[in-house]
Amino acid sequence: MGVLQEWKLKAEIRWKIGEQLSLHIVLLMAFCYKPVTRWTRKRRLDDGLRKALHAIDTAVSDSDYDTQQQVCVNYDQNSEHHSGAVGACDDYVSTTSDHYEPLCAVHDGTSNDVLPQLSDNENGTSSAVNSESTDTESVNDISDADDDVMSQLREWAAKHNASHESVRDILQIFRTRYPELPKDPRTVLQTYGIVQVRNVAGGSYHHFGLIEGIKNVLNELELHETVIKLQVNIDGLPLFRSSNAQFWPILGLIANFVVKEPFIVGLFYGNSKPSSAAEYLEEFIQECSAVQRDFLWHMDKLYTVQLTAVVCDMPARTFVKNVKGHTGYHGCDKCIQEGLYVANRMTFPQTHATLRTDESFASLSDSFHHLGTSPFSSLSVGMITCFPIDYMHAVCLGVVRKLLYLWMKGPLRTRLGGRCIEHISDKLLALKRCVPSEFARKPRSLAELDRWKATELRQFVLYTGPVCLNGVIPREMYENFMLLSSGVYILLSTEHCKELIEQAQSILLNFVEHFSKLYGEEYLSYNVHAIVHLADEAKLHGVLDNVSCFVFENHLGKIKKLLRKPDAPLQQVVKRLSERTFKAVFTNDKILQKSHHDGPVPSVLSECRQFREFHQPALTVSLNAKDSYVLVGGKPAVVRNFLQRNNDCFVAYQEFSDVLSFYSYPFQSERLNIFCVSGSLREVAVAPISQITRKYCYLTNGLQGVVIPLLH
Ligand SMILES: [Zn+2]
Repeated sequence: MGVLQEWKLKAEIRWKIGEQLSLHIVLLMAFCYKPVTRWTRKRRLDDGLRKALHAIDTAVSDSDYDTQQQVCVNYDQNSEHHSGAVGACDDYVSTTSDHYEPLCAVHDGTSNDVLPQLSDNENGTSSAVNSESTDTESVNDISDADDDVMSQLREWAAKHNASHESVRDILQIFRTRYPELPKDPRTVLQTYGIVQVRNVAGGSYHHFGLIEGIKNVLNELELHETVIKLQVNIDGLPLFRSSNAQFWPILGLIANFVVKEPFIVGLFYGNSKPSSAAEYLEEFIQECSAVQRDFLWHMDKLYTVQLTAVVCDMPARTFVKNVKGHTGYHGCDKCIQEGLYVANRMTFPQTHATLRTDESFASLSDSFHHLGTSPFSSLSVGMITCFPIDYMHAVCLGVVRKLLYLWMKGPLRTRLGGRCIEHISDKLLALKRCVPSEFARKPRSLAELDRWKATELRQFVLYTGPVCLNGVIPREMYENFMLLSSGVYILLSTEHCKELIEQAQSILLNFVEHFSKLYGEEYLSYNVHAIVHLADEAKLHGVLDNVSCFVFENHLGKIKKLLRKPDAPLQQVVKRLSERTFKAVFTNDKILQKSHHDGPVPSVLSECRQFREFHQPALTVSLNAKDSYVLVGGKPAVVRNFLQRNNDCFVAYQEFSDVLSFYSYPFQSERLNIFCVSGSLREVAVAPISQITRKYCYLTNGLQGVVIPLLH
């Protein structure tokens, strides 16, 4: 290679992906320059590419990827589609016509062909990949070693949602030295050549496959049970601010896996929701029915598939169940009460109405409730018990947001003054530095309430609200809020839900009745009324997080991020998804990390190693102030050091001298290990690290603090 060529190459690398990557590649090329055998060259290519990809990772990595947990999933915790339409075209990377041509073929509904994997293997009539293919592009000519490298490239591209242009550029760089690598990114990424789309229910639809999705998950993770507990999520996903274009994905989730990562089953695209639930769900229902009837045989193991929950918001639930909506007189899907129309709103004032059952639904006993037959009726699924109320929509985005708006913009009798709202906002902002790293978002001012996400509303009702509202809003309103907060907290707590579920039911019933007196019966909308049914959901499904939309919401956000341009959104997303395989990320982090020598080390543990961080699945405790509050041996404490001697791990901690219940209404909060802590700290003590049973969210105004065990 000439000096000039090398200089050009280096300049190009710097321009494309920055100095860090260029350094690795130039080192790689220099290293491989002398004549070597084919296998040595392959090995060096692999090593070099690994370093290069690692450099790119380092350069572009951001906080979206949680590498601190031992077991985690590769989704973006910040992504939510409730922010309204997002300008997907902001991320548009232009593709020149000679590089990218439409590969999509729209088929009629009769086709049920297996999707072609790579256009290289097709007969070439509709493939742009073929049009620029050479002999080196043939998949058959790619050796195992190259395949391994391509697999790494594919994983890197999926992890960073890399555009075809950036993958093409990287391939061009490496092909100057290793021409056997393909030059088309679609060959490396295994992009679908032709996307099969059916015209369905007023839009277009692509079916990825339920059984295929389950098998992909089973390939990645071992399920020790032979029963697959399947959850399904159906929801609308608006795409652009400037149009009504929307996706309606069907997502699946195997609920009895430790790693909760949804997979896509089908994707509808149209300018409104599907005109017919039966048409839209046809392929899914067929597959689900078949797998329920015939079981699932995979890798020498026979699985039973149980559809345990269809998790949707209320409009989607009524759509797929084919029943009256929540604005109809018979709109409650859990009880048979007839709604009351008050002040132009449909309200549901009764709290003890007769409950609907799977049997009463199947016999259509309340004919006013049904609009027709649901496509789900043909499956073995409880039409009431398996369609739970989702607390993300009903509580967080529903009641909590409604309360905040009532305080800010509601009737004068319950509206809070401007100064009071400002005071609450100031207190929220002051808690920014306290919020532990498990929270994707920091508290925001109420002036930004329109943009608050579901996670922020959850954070408010469970953690920051009880602290910031205390002594600021009228007592009666605070106590009403605390009924909601403590009742929902119990139903979300794996530790307390089972034991205190009757108490939670009574507390939440009180909340609804009290709410009606305080704010007016006209505000007893479906979401407020649904609170009386929440404890029943927890009795059926366990803690509310077991059947919430939060896990699906993150996946919907990921799907939306795959859109790079407004043309043919369905085909685009199907192709991007074809480039990805189900991937649960298992990080190999050690339990104790970041060694140091700063102490304190109690005399009983001299000659030990010291660490700053303690990692467990979904839990990171560190010596940083916001992440250092824990429950040790049943008492709140602040961690001062992590110690290891031989194979034994210990925590050095200090307890608080003054510990009291934070609230006493509707019960003493110490029952939930929620305390107000103050005073001086006791002497440093040591305990086996296994005695850390909870991590706390510690919220303080400087003088005293409140510790609330984290629930998620
Ligand atoms: Zn009801």
